[in-house]
Amino acid sequence: MEKVKEFTLLDFEDVRLFVNGEWVTAASNSYFTLTNPSTGEVVTKIPRGGKVEAKDAIEAASQAFQSWSKLSAYERAEYLLKLRDLMFEHEEELAAIMSTEMGKAFTEARGEVKYAASFLTWYAEEARRIYGETIPASVPNKRLTVIKQPVGVIAAITPWNFPLAMMTRKLGPALAAGCTGVVKPASQSPLSALAFAKLVEKAGIPNGVVNIVAGATREISDEIFENPIVKKISFTGSTEVGKTLVEKSAPQLKKLALELGGHAPFIVFEDADLEKAAEGALASKFRNAGQTCVCANRIYVHENVREEFTNILVDKVKSLKVGNSIDETTQIGPLVNKEGVKKVEEHVSDAVAKGAVVLHGGKALGEEGCFYEPTVLGNVTKDMLIMNEETFGPVAPITTFHSEEEVIKEANDTIYGLAAYLYTSNISRAVRVSESLNFGVIGLNDGLPGTAQAPFGGMNQSGYGREGGHQGIRDYLEEKFISLSL
Ligand code: NAP
Repeated sequence: MEKVKEFTLLDFEDVRLFVNGEWVTAASNSYFTLTNPSTGEVVTKIPRGGKVEAKDAIEAASQAFQSWSKLSAYERAEYLLKLRDLMFEHEEELAAIMSTEMGKAFTEARGEVKYAASFLTWYAEEARRIYGETIPASVPNKRLTVIKQPVGVIAAITPWNFPLAMMTRKLGPALAAGCTGVVKPASQSPLSALAFAKLVEKAGIPNGVVNIVAGATREISDEIFENPIVKKISFTGSTEVGKTLVEKSAPQLKKLALELGGHAPFIVFEDADLEKAAEGALASKFRNAGQTCVCANRIYVHENVREEFTNILVDKVKSLKVGNSIDETTQIGPLVNKEGVKKVEEHVSDAVAKGAVVLHGGKALGEEGCFYEPTVLGNVTKDMLIMNEETFGPVAPITTFHSEEEVIKEANDTIYGLAAYLYTSNISRAVRVSESLNFGVIGLNDGLPGTAQAPFGGMNQSGYGREGGHQGIRDYLEEKFISLSL
């Protein structure tokens, strides 16, 4: 780690988990190692938390809930804003930690710190707007009201591709609502969560309100799902794991929000501003080296503008700088691990074997690290793996279409329903197609639609629940109806 001169948040010689305001090692006395995907070097070792730490964390959160939930919304909002300010104060260090552990290009990592902090701002404000209701009664002697109360102890299970933002998108509304909880970060990105916990401590947030337990995934998640204290779980990750969690939530009917995988169509109509569309495709496809749930997976270009659009996109892709993620000039960092590279290689070779043409890139780079060239494929067809599964890598597959009706049908022909993009300058078409696409988030002439003040979430097998916006706090609240007879 060279980017930041001095690390003040974490001691890499002695990383610990955060339970009940204490920095603890694992009862199992075992550790797991974290490898830098840019260099293949070991970054540090982390205590392998398990059932014991998860149980302690849940009990600590339960204890803390008694007082945290009784604070006024204004008091909780003050804590969130203090935490937000601390994130800004430590932006460089948080970005460097993230970049080193999971390979996000440093400038993008810095952007993620800001994005993650924006959820704390938004939900500090939303805390003050948790309004109830009064309902006109049908008889004169009754008064009917609905109040909103925090659900209790929650758990957040987060992925490695947005280590901070996926955590604050859950913790922001949870803490604002009056909930306390446990975070289980991904094994490839525990340091970001633990560095964040240092800020939780600095902000003076009471012990037990936020706990971070990394380690033995199964053991921790079993405790989360089996412990009756936990009332709600918010999961962001793959559709495959999400489905297993639905089963695990059934015995206690735990509330579950699932933010899962996607397979976004990116549609370029013949009337689109092609320069803007290519810029949007570049941002959507190549952000985080193509490792995002909302990235453009299938680029549909109208046959009449295929050549022009492809040339513009290929030129832009050629200029992307690949390198060690910690380097400030890097635009495309490594993939998260060797399995990630293998999956991309499989998708590209499958596509080529079935007739795709490599217009740029098309191979892994170097011996060390987990790099893959930013790649554009032409002549892509529906039967290829890349058109059906998440690639999670920097590969843009281009196919063509002839009519609006045809492309809507193709775009919707997927088990996923997270994000979709369309570029057009025809206002009627823009409305018509946006309304016809079965996806939770639509980027209309916009390659980067995600923002704290808007609801984000999927349809179909991309999950259920919404995070962000005023909708994002709903799941952390119970609505209680009180009927008063005078
Ligand atoms: P993942 O393998 O499903 O893991 C996500 C989290 O779940 C990690 O903390 C992981 O822990 C944990 N986990 C894995 N197996 C588990 C199990 N059997 N029981 C309980 N927890 C388990 O996904 P990922 O590879 O980290 O993330 C990439 C996926 O997330 C992609 O599919 C992407 O599209 C999706 N994603 C969706 C959104 C959204 O908002 N919809 C946002 C970002 C990412 P370990 O790391 O310890 O295995």
